[in-house]
Amino acid sequence: MPSSDSSAGIERFIRPDLVAFGGYSACKSPETLAGKIEVPVENIIKLDANENPYGCSPRVNQALATYPDLNIYPDAGQTELRKLLAGYTGISAEYIVAGSGSDELIDLILRLFVGVGDEVINCVPTFDMFRFSTKMCGGTLVEVPRDENFAINVDAVKAAISEKTKIIFLANPNNPTGTMTPRHDIMEILDTGLPVVVDEAYYEFSGETVAPLVNRHKNLIVIRTFSKWAGLAGLRVGYGIFPAKIADYLLTIKPPYNVNVAALVAVQESLKDIDYLLGNVKAIITERERLFGELKKLKWLKPFPSQTNFIFGSVLNGEAKVLQQKLQNRGILVRYFDLPFWRDGVRISVGKPEYTNALIKTLKELGEEANV
Ligand code: PMP
Repeated sequence: MPSSDSSAGIERFIRPDLVAFGGYSACKSPETLAGKIEVPVENIIKLDANENPYGCSPRVNQALATYPDLNIYPDAGQTELRKLLAGYTGISAEYIVAGSGSDELIDLILRLFVGVGDEVINCVPTFDMFRFSTKMCGGTLVEVPRDENFAINVDAVKAAISEKTKIIFLANPNNPTGTMTPRHDIMEILDTGLPVVVDEAYYEFSGETVAPLVNRHKNLIVIRTFSKWAGLAGLRVGYGIFPAKIADYLLTIKPPYNVNVAALVAVQESLKDIDYLLGNVKAIITERERLFGELKKLKWLKPFPSQTNFIFGSVLNGEAKVLQQKLQNRGILVRYFDLPFWRDGVRISVGKPEYTNALIKTLKELGEEANV
């Protein structure tokens, strides 16, 4: 039975800075919508979490079905996994550490560098886990707004640096906006000498990377994931490319068995099936461009060019939240953003062509209603 007087329970021992912490607003699982929307759960079109609509390599399913050693802990040193990632990235294993999704690497990096009162520079709007994990470390976020096309303002980033700054985050391409930051801007930020985390979660869709610069720039960290291009979001496997000394520290502070054996098997099999997976990436890129063209035709939505597997748009004739709710009712899940720095944004993951068709048809119908 919940207590009516919270000060009497152990809640009073909770860190004061977390008592009113809002957390990360994750996307809703389709099953939680059962009975609440107009369509059956199995008909839901999920375009809200930038997942891969083609799934993972079939080799992963086959290998996991017969994997014999689930009773054995994974290798804490990630020897095999780091070797595989070295093969994939072309960067030596001593620079690489894997995590339970790149989310975990964001958390570990912040734990390594940021303590109470330290500052983290964030170019907003951007991926919310940078804020979330900074707060979890007791760090202070210094938010530098992007411009009207979501480009970063390098001068403003530099002006935001203080003696307390420990990290600068840069998602490239950025989530939720899909925008790329030009290489010269990244280099200028690297020249500050502060630790710079370039999050390349969508690298396989953008084709641009600064990973080969890690061994020349002692303050550069690059993080990536298997969630998007390889369709492994459910298994949680990401990795980072770090200066070798930082990789060593991370191996020391990470939970020993942070990447599970199923994730290792999935990486092994995915890397044997790269052509298949990159074929899917190519299909998603083609579909992204078609979706962009279709969205552009709607006069009430302004899509922004994207180098990812999603498209961000501004709702021009009403509230993004209302649009999201109406789409959800009809079984199409998208993400809306109502941020201090950006009101009424909607982010739509690129799906299979038939999902685009259903989405556009529904958007056209909704567009005829006043105030979507
Ligand atoms: N960084 C960015 C920019 C992302 O968009 C995401 C996923 N939404 C992540 C990191 C986290 O990915 P993972 O599934 O590997 O934790």
